[in-house]
Amino acid sequence: MPRHLRFPRRSFLGLLFLFSLSTSALYFIYSAPGIVNEYLFMVQARGVQIRENVRSIGVQVLEQVVRGAYSNGTDYTYDFNLSEPHFQTTTYLPDGFTYHPDQKCPEKLPSMKGPVDVNMSEVTLLEVEKTLLEADRSLGQGGHWKPQDCQPRWKVAILVPFRNRHEHLPILLRHLIPVLQRQRLQFAFYVIEQAGNEPFNRAMLFNVGFREAMKDMDWDCMIFHDVDHILENDRNYYGCGKMPRHFAVKLNKYSYTLPYNEFFGGVSGLTVQQFRRINGFPNAFWGWGGEDDDLWNRVQFAGYSVSRPPGDIGRYMSIPHHHRGEVQFLGRYRLLRRSKERQDVDGLNNLNYAPRVTRNPLYTNITVHLTRELAPVADY
Ligand code: BGC
Repeated sequence: MPRHLRFPRRSFLGLLFLFSLSTSALYFIYSAPGIVNEYLFMVQARGVQIRENVRSIGVQVLEQVVRGAYSNGTDYTYDFNLSEPHFQTTTYLPDGFTYHPDQKCPEKLPSMKGPVDVNMSEVTLLEVEKTLLEADRSLGQGGHWKPQDCQPRWKVAILVPFRNRHEHLPILLRHLIPVLQRQRLQFAFYVIEQAGNEPFNRAMLFNVGFREAMKDMDWDCMIFHDVDHILENDRNYYGCGKMPRHFAVKLNKYSYTLPYNEFFGGVSGLTVQQFRRINGFPNAFWGWGGEDDDLWNRVQFAGYSVSRPPGDIGRYMSIPHHHRGEVQFLGRYRLLRRSKERQDVDGLNNLNYAPRVTRNPLYTNITVHLTRELAPVADY
């Protein structure tokens, strides 16, 4: 072979190395999206923190210089406080405040103290059932509870989409049930479990959960809750409002910063009326990611805006995982470009399913075998 046509062996090996490196990276991004996302948002959050620090150092230097220059008695004041304001609008009721069984429960109860300890240690469901039932005998099957000393402001169904996270559920219930009792809400838990081999469809599970919960009781508020999200502040009130609410604002996995303004993941809540008006969640998102972004779009198209708890009230911790995340849904960006057209044809109104419903002491289990044929929609 002429010398100039010979492909050097070293270049070939180099190319092979680069090829295998890039395919492994792509596979990693596809199969472990949560980890990649967490890392990207963490880097972004660190960047923001560094910028904030530099800014505040700059402000302090400026303050010293200005103070030095005007040290001989001017009363001109400079506003150096550039941090995000957090105004406490109404105060919480004092300890010992008693309410009347005929009156609406207050929203800012004395029992809601603020930051709460988070216990991530593993525990069995049986142990959690025992402890919670001993603490309050009125906790009924399916985790149904309502306050006895006042009329609940909201009847709240907590919907938890689920697959293969058996160690997380008892941790969530142990933490959340006492908080909801302190918030004097009427509530019950619905765990919607996906059977079959299709990628996880969080959004479709929420739609199924909504329909089934409404058969069980006349709820007025729906909380869409990831099983691994643990709130850190019991003033994060799980009632609904005039606008859809995003509760999980500051996650430890994103260094307690909102990853982007339109982020609507983790824990969100809508009234039954709001949820029906937006035609629920989309059913077309198979795999990890995008369904919460689509819900955000639906909410905006319906003319709502999203409300969020102020300051540090929306802080959450994620329970560490033993297993790999769900596969990433790579088609989500294509679907998200046409959220508006899909809104009326994909959601609560095109969904069929056959559930298996069983009552457990702390939650109702709704198992559904999900397939794509259950929610037919034109190829958007
Ligand atoms: C995904 C969302 C997810 C968010 C934060 C986005 O890229 O589309 O579904 O909630 O990242 O992890």
